[in-house]
Amino acid sequence: MTDDAIAAAALLERISQLTRTEEQNGDLYPAQWTVLRFLARANRFSRNPMAITHYMGSTRGTVSQTVIALERKGYVARTPSMRDKRSVDVEVTESGVEKLAADPILKLAEEVRSALGEQPKQARTMLEKILANLVAANGGRPFGQCRTCRHFKPQSGTTKGQPHHCGLLEEDLSETDSDAICVEQVA
Ligand code: SF4
Repeated sequence: MTDDAIAAAALLERISQLTRTEEQNGDLYPAQWTVLRFLARANRFSRNPMAITHYMGSTRGTVSQTVIALERKGYVARTPSMRDKRSVDVEVTESGVEKLAADPILKLAEEVRSALGEQPKQARTMLEKILANLVAANGGRPFGQCRTCRHFKPQSGTTKGQPHHCGLLEEDLSETDSDAICVEQVA
């Protein structure tokens, strides 16, 4: 491993630590921010406690407490799941959307944009690869974008206004769905 690789890893760790410190300035803890962000990016098959548990690499009990805390603060709402009678769907509320507009991570995103100019996609691709390797080494789920999944069937939707189709879950997918992340995604 080169010294530059070690230095880059240390920088990533330091940036992450600074972001965590900023997150603690408001009414949400870092884990609550992570769950709120996840729910805003996840598709309808993934906005539930089981998927959050996989994403966080945490326990169901901890995730349940985090979701309850977010609900008490008005940022998410739980409703009975249409797919699994024993579970609930967790949706970001309007207050949650407003909260995310002031997400401390946006400051970091601005720094990424300013440092990389027109090419932030390259940094995203590189970091996605690093993350995928680390997740695979830990036996976790990748939570990649739906349109990159092996089950994604573009332009195969059977429902009006839903252009795409999921070959695994046998459900039609909208354009917005195809950009979301999914607990079942397989690259
Ligand atoms: S195509 Fe893949 S990522 Fe998309 S909904 Fe189906 S399983 Fe999830």
